[in-house]
Amino acid sequence: MKDENCIFCRIANGDIPSRTIYEDDHFRVILDNGPATRGHALILPKEHYKDLSEIPEETAAEAMIVAKKVSALLVKKLHADGLNLVQNNGETAGQTVKHFHIHLIPRYENDGQHILWNPTHPTDEELDSVLKDIKG
Ligand code: 5GP
Ligand code: ZN
Repeated sequence: MKDENCIFCRIANGDIPSRTIYEDDHFRVILDNGPATRGHALILPKEHYKDLSEIPEETAAEAMIVAKKVSALLVKKLHADGLNLVQNNGETAGQTVKHFHIHLIPRYENDGQHILWNPTHPTDEELDSVLKDIKG
């Protein structure tokens, strides 16, 4: 299903032009227009799913294969030193466009970006309590 009011549906299906670096029957990969680094790209499914919770397993698996292929292309062609895959779900997690997408962010020495988090130092009891909540 496509959503006419969704900007990423319109881009993914070619109704709005984009800088496309890869396309197949189910996905379009475009350059992000507010990139974290040179070559920051977005994998967009052509169907509308708001986030990871809605995406069918088969599409999720295909998306990871596209991520692998396009990451290799970006690293090679742009001479990146590394690459982050980022996928935000929900506003609290930083999602601004409610159409599932995966960020491919090439990384370069001293690129000044901070995509990693600050580690915390939980006690054994706190970690055990998390485990109990997840498995219980
Ligand atoms: P989110 O914060 O939802 O994970 O990421 C949304 C991303 O989409 C942002 O990095 C933003 O720069 C990018 N973006 C938003 N609108 C457009 C657009 O119209 N075209 C392109 N190419 N990127 C967009
Ligand atoms: Zn959409």
